[in-house]
Amino acid sequence: MNESQKKCSKCGEYKDLIEFYVFNRKYKNSKQKIRVYTEISSQCKKCHNESTKQWRANLPIEKRRQLDREKMVKYRKNHLEKSREYVRNYHKNRYHTDEAFRKRMIESSKKWHEKKKLEQSITLNCNK
Ligand SMILES: [Zn+2]
Repeated sequence: MNESQKKCSKCGEYKDLIEFYVFNRKYKNSKQKIRVYTEISSQCKKCHNESTKQWRANLPIEKRRQLDREKMVKYRKNHLEKSREYVRNYHKNRYHTDEAFRKRMIESSKKWHEKKKLEQSITLNCNK
C-alpha cells in the first residue's frame, strides 16, 4: 500500500484516492465561526453508490420524490448560472474578436443613449 491509496471500509480493498469521494463539510467551532474541512469518504465510490442506492430504496416514495425534486432544483440553478456565464463570456469574446459585432454593439448602445437623451429632453420640455 502507498500513500495515495486508502482502504475502503466496506469492501476492504485498497484503492487509489481518486476512487473515493471527497466531501467539504462545514461546522461551527466554539466561537461560532464556520470552518470547512475536507473529508474523504470511508467507502470507495462503488460501495458508496451501492449504499446510497440501498438507502434510497428503503425510503418511502414521497421522500424519494422530494429528494429528486431538490436535486433538480439544485441542478437547474447551477445550470442557469453556468449558461449565463457562458453568454457573458461569449459576448465579451466576440466583442474583442469580431469587428462587425463590436460595431453593432457600439451602434446599439449609441442608439440607446440617444433614445434616453430624447426621452429626457421631452420630459424637460413637458416640465417647462
Ligand atoms: Zn469499496
